[in-house]
Order: sequence, then C-alpha cells, then structure tokens
Amino acid sequence: MTSVESVLKKTPKDLFIGGRWVPASGGRTFDVDDPATGEVLCSVADATPADGVAALDAAVAAQPAWAAHPPRERGEILRRAFELLTTRIDDLALLMTSEMGKPLADSRAEITYAAEFFRWFSEEAVRIDGGYQVAPNGTGRFLVMRQPVGPCLFVTPWNFPMAMGTRKIGPAIAAGCTSVIKPAHQTPLSMLALAEILQEAGLPDGVLNVVPAVGAGELMEPLIRDGRARKISFTGSTAVGRRLIEQSAEQVLRVSMELGGNAPFLVFDDADLDKAVDGAMLAKMRNMGEACTAANRIYAQAGIAEEFGRRLAERMGALRVGHGAADGVQVGPLIDAKARTKVTELVSDAVDRGAKVVIGGKAPEGDGYDGGYFYSPTVLTDVPTDARMATEEIFGPVAPISVFQTEQEALELANDTEYGLVSYVFTTDLARGLRMSEGLETGMVGLNQGIVSNPAAPFGGVKHSGLGREGGSTGIDEFLETKLVAIAT
Ligand code: NAP
Repeated sequence: MTSVESVLKKTPKDLFIGGRWVPASGGRTFDVDDPATGEVLCSVADATPADGVAALDAAVAAQPAWAAHPPRERGEILRRAFELLTTRIDDLALLMTSEMGKPLADSRAEITYAAEFFRWFSEEAVRIDGGYQVAPNGTGRFLVMRQPVGPCLFVTPWNFPMAMGTRKIGPAIAAGCTSVIKPAHQTPLSMLALAEILQEAGLPDGVLNVVPAVGAGELMEPLIRDGRARKISFTGSTAVGRRLIEQSAEQVLRVSMELGGNAPFLVFDDADLDKAVDGAMLAKMRNMGEACTAANRIYAQAGIAEEFGRRLAERMGALRVGHGAADGVQVGPLIDAKARTKVTELVSDAVDRGAKVVIGGKAPEGDGYDGGYFYSPTVLTDVPTDARMATEEIFGPVAPISVFQTEQEALELANDTEYGLVSYVFTTDLARGLRMSEGLETGMVGLNQGIVSNPAAPFGGVKHSGLGREGGSTGIDEFLETKLVAIAT
C-alpha cells in the first residue's frame, strides 16, 4: 500500500533545469505544508532570480532543435506521459491530496483530466497545418505557415496543481515550444512529479524547466522583461494577471490569461430540479469551491427557490468533511489560513447584510480538524446583491442563493460583474436555454450541467476573466505563429 511518506520520498524536490535536477543557488529551500494538519510535508528548492535565468537559458538553447523535432515524435512523448500519469494515478493522487488538501477522489479526477490534455495534444501535434492560396488577381501565391511561437513562460495556481500545468505544457510540447514553469509555492510537488514523468517519457533536456519559488514576482518579472521568451501563459487571479500583462507589454509578449471568475448559476422554474441540484453540487463543491469555475452566485426563480434551496442544503449538509486522504471524505480543507479567513469574512458580511444561514456558516470543530483549514459546507439564502460575495470570488464551500422573478432580471443579475468565465443555466425550455447562452457575457456556459471543462473543448473567459483559450482545437493556436510567404509567379 502506498503511504504519504513513500510518495514524498520519491518525489523530486530540486529545480528541473536543462534536464538536470539541481538545488537552488545558495541551497535555498521552502516548506510545503499539508493544509489538513498545518504540518510541514517536506522542503523544496526555492529558485532565485539567477536560477530563473538559468532555466530560461536552457529553454532558449533547446528551442531550435525542439521546433525541428518531428511532430509525430513530439506527440508520442506526450502519449507516453499520458500513459505514465494514468498508471501512477494512485501515488500522484496521494501526493496532490497531501499538498493541496482535496479528497483523493478529486485528486484522481484532476490527474485524469490533466493526463487527457496530454492525450488530446499528442493527437494535435501532427495536425498543425497551413494554407495555400491563389492571389485574387491571379498573379501571385500565398503560402501560410504555422510555426512555434518560441520559448514560453508559465505560471500556475495551487487549486489544480497538475491540470493547470498540462493545459499549457501539452500544447507547447505539441507545437514545438520550450518552456519555463513556476508552479504555486503551496503545491510544487505535483509539478515536479510531472516533470519527472515527462523526462521518463523521453522529453529532451531543456524543453521543460520547472522552478518552484516563494518569491514569484522577483523570479518572473526579469524573465518576462528579458526579451528571449516570446509568450507568457498565466492561470491565477485577475490582479496578478493584470500586472503580468503590463510587464509583458515591454517586450510585446503574446499573452494567454486564465483569470478569476464569479460564475452565476441560474435555475428557472421549469428546470429539472434533480439535475439542477446535482449540477449545483458539482459547480459549487468540486475542489471544495476552490475553482475559478465555481458557482459563486446562485439565482433561483421564485417558483422553485424554496424547494431548490431545501434540497441543496440537504445535500450540502450530508457531505463528510475531513483529511482528504481519509476514507469517505468528500470535503477537504481550504488551502491556507488566509483562504479560510476570507471565506469567514465573506459569510459574516453577507449575514450582517441580511442573509440567512441554512446550514454551516462556520469552521467545523472537534477531533480531526485541529491545525487544518476546514470550513463547513454552507448554504445561505436571501443574500442581498450588495453583499461582498456577490462581487468577490468566495473560493470556498459556500452556496449563496438569491431569488429572481423574470428571465430578463436573471440575465441582468448574471452579467452584473466584471468577470466572464463561465455561467450555468438550468431550464427545460430549449429556446430559453439558447437565449440565455447567447446573452450571458461569459466564455463558457453549462446548459443543464454543472461542469464545462473538457480537454477537447476551448476553455477560457471574457471580460476580466482572461484572454485566449486552452484545450480544444484552438488550444494549440496559442503556441503557433502564422507566417505568410507571398510568392511571385
Ligand atoms: P494568484 O495569487 O494569482 O497566484 C497564481 C500564481 O501566480 C501562483 O503561482 C503565484 O505564485 C503566482 N504569482 C503571484 N504573484 C505573482 C507575481 N507578482 N508575478 C508572477 N507570478 C505571481 O492566484 P491564486 O490565489 O493562487 O489562485 C486562485 C486564482 O486563480 C483565482 O482567482 C482563480 O479564479 C484563478 N484560476 C483561474 C483559472 C482559469 O482557468 N481561469 C483556473 C484556476 C484558477 P505564489 O505561489 O508565489 O503565490
């Protein structure tokens, strides 16, 4: 049987630069904690700015040969990595649960999702095409080539420690781009384990470089301003994304931004309530609510609001909270004390403004919760539109329900945010479903389902939720430049 100790022991803890595992300059390290206990799991090399430059040097050096590498072989490396991830899912899930807190079943689901990006892009590597066109006046020809963008910089968050990486690494490898990735300091282990798997799958030295660090800004800013990287792809908060866009302006880097969300979840009177409650559980509780796609505002139409709220509260109240590696646990801890404090403050603010707590509303107490950052699954009703949680990401297991009367009101409420990642609509009226899907200002809509993510589909947001798409047939476009060769005939 796999134990946390044995998995931790075999996980690399150094930086991965130019195909070698190396300590950080000066031997700097930082601790990685288990959010379910607050205890230190291990320490990991803490990349300095000089280490960052060394990683970029390695990516730049590997770029020409990697761009010339046969697409079929690039795809086969990804395919082998997909298979290794699938075979090692038990160990990887335990590692992920230890550093991030989510229950083992959620970690397994994430690793499956993460691996699917490698499978999808292994198939895309050999489908990069171009064009040939006769000029409209008939005297010239246009040849359109698609070439790798060049060395890339990636920054990823802690909430999906592996999948947010494979969504970028997969298409980069398929397109012929090298990269430097900085995972979140709370969850570097899953990314280090992934790098080891890619190395085993045959990825040449320098194609991927991994530099965990606590000083994200001091590590990344010089690399962004360096001029040799040609693209940055970031997943994280809108505030940090905005700063990285500004930094990228100097060297006119291509930017892909997967940023924050404030997803509305709309349930109409004509909805299939079983489906709506299932959908709400998924959209709210996947990853303990720590997802950019999490239902942040639930709007139920007046005719079913009470029944919907009652059924959702029943389901939320039945969830088992605890250490993610314990049997039967469905809700793990939040990532850290700061995250729990924020959730606590948002709930107090809503209650002060008139919201009612149906269940939860506080941290669980008793055996098994000491030291961890747990928060009980919570349902609030009568949440006013001026509550902070109507405009800020909750990032926790809190479902705030408000009531609406008309379709027009629902659309206005849903769109009343600067974010635009995803929205959810539950209705059995197809025409209404289409009207809402067209009117909602989000990059994605879940129509009668509580999850939209799929490696074969384009994921991304509009407004302050981001730029660009990951996954699907467009995912690889973010890593390809289009070049025109205008030919005299
Ligand atoms: P965050 O604070 O923005 O951190 C994300 C990453 O950026 C981490 O690796 C972090 O490093 C790094 N970072 C922080 N400051 C930086 C700087 N000045 N320069 C360069 N890198 C910097 O976000 P988070 O709180 O970890 O993650 C949650 C956010 O991510 C939420 O807003 C969520 O909605 C969003 N998200 C979006 C998507 C999507 O696809 N749209 C998916 C998942 C999450 P450290 O580890 O040192 O903090």
